[in-house]
Amino acid sequence: MDYVSTRGSAQRQDFRSVTLAGLASDGGLYVPREWPQFSADEIAAMAGLPYAELAAKVMQPFVGDCLTPERLLELTTKAYGRFAHKAVTPLTQFDEKQWLLELFHGPTLAFKDVALQLLGLLFEEFLTGSDQHLTIVGATSGDTGSAAIDAVAGREKIDIFMLHPKGRVSEVQRRQMTSVIAPNVHNIALTDASFDDAQAMVKRMFADTDMTGRFRITAVNSINWARLMAQVVYYFAAAIQLGAPNRKVAFSVPTGNFGDVFAGYVAAKMGLPVEKLIVATNVNDILHRALSTGDYSAHGVTPTEAPSMDIQVSSNFERLLFDAGGRDGAALAEQMKGFEASKAMQLTNAQREGAAALFTSMRADADEMHAAMRWAYENCGKVIDPHTAIGLHAALSADLPADVPVVTLATADAAKFAPAVESAIGVSPTLPPRIADLMDREEACTDLPGTYEAVASFVADNATESPAAA
Ligand SMILES: *Cc1c(COP(=O)(O)O)cnc(C)c1O
Repeated sequence: MDYVSTRGSAQRQDFRSVTLAGLASDGGLYVPREWPQFSADEIAAMAGLPYAELAAKVMQPFVGDCLTPERLLELTTKAYGRFAHKAVTPLTQFDEKQWLLELFHGPTLAFKDVALQLLGLLFEEFLTGSDQHLTIVGATSGDTGSAAIDAVAGREKIDIFMLHPKGRVSEVQRRQMTSVIAPNVHNIALTDASFDDAQAMVKRMFADTDMTGRFRITAVNSINWARLMAQVVYYFAAAIQLGAPNRKVAFSVPTGNFGDVFAGYVAAKMGLPVEKLIVATNVNDILHRALSTGDYSAHGVTPTEAPSMDIQVSSNFERLLFDAGGRDGAALAEQMKGFEASKAMQLTNAQREGAAALFTSMRADADEMHAAMRWAYENCGKVIDPHTAIGLHAALSADLPADVPVVTLATADAAKFAPAVESAIGVSPTLPPRIADLMDREEACTDLPGTYEAVASFVADNATESPAAA
């Protein structure tokens, strides 16, 4: 399988290259040249497969010749063997229409583990035998940092540098990062810096030719195609359990950067019978505005109890604009250039119509989020986290045919957001046994002043030099 850039001018690449590269050289995002197809019979034959086997089957067409089917299955077996639930992503029931897909049984209690555990193994696989070394640099306000660190800790030929603003992440979130002690893991707490400052330093490093000339610096955010690919699998897993290919299913997805819900779009393009994808946002609702009115314009960010959805712009939305808008990379490059300058753009008619075929959207404020947490607890005895509650609110309010089941994606374990959950339902969720000793674990972290020079020289002193991209 070849991959093309959404901005049309980067060279086509194979799966190995797009995995190691992240962003395309023209600033666009990689998408497969065409969507692989599964027939109804092929989908029916997937029923009952263990998760790791289903994953290897669904992902093989994207991987192409870069891994044999046997090797891919070894990697999925290893990645998903670390999950605390045998089913990996168990599907549970609220009532005859409403379902919950639990994506939080990985090592760091958030759905990002599903993709990042595999990505860590893919990096290692593709670097083995080469003379290259990856330097992952990121800034985190919480979930991505811990999932990425856990996924690459101890892996050969990879160093990870994760910046967080000192004292501005929750204690659970900090400890999930700093208690992973391995020679290739470098946690950096920036004194006198905000999350935005940290993010700006990472961006500056990616553009700093002194750094990029010596180190192969890469990102692990959801612009990486391999992350989206891994998320396609659980849409198949859930829909097949609910009767696909003979029955349509809808999904409600708590959305930030549009990675998770775009994976649902890919599943539909591959032949999975999806009735609708509900894009659930909190009050940071750029996607809801774009999908309902065509106006994609960035406003400031309002902090909420669902911080992983507190976004100003949604990087993966570009993939939908590309595919739904007719795959015209040159036109999209122009459109995105305009957006980068003015922070606002109108979707074209083709983009709006292409998106409306599968997507609908809904926005939840704090009261609606709290009400959904109470609904789940009082009616079904289920404790859900604030992000999941936004998805559930949208699932309960959506206008869908009566016979279509709706699956809400549960993106985090409630214990990650215990204070918000307790204030909504009066019950404080406890950490699951596998990380119950988190508060007693040893921590390793370097404090640095919040300046670019301090961070760049720390990275340069601790990373391994690597020849430029292959
Ligand atoms: C990252 C995250 C999201 C948003 O997912 P996107 O793929 O960025 O849309 C939602 N909920 C939780 C808990 C997350 O960590």
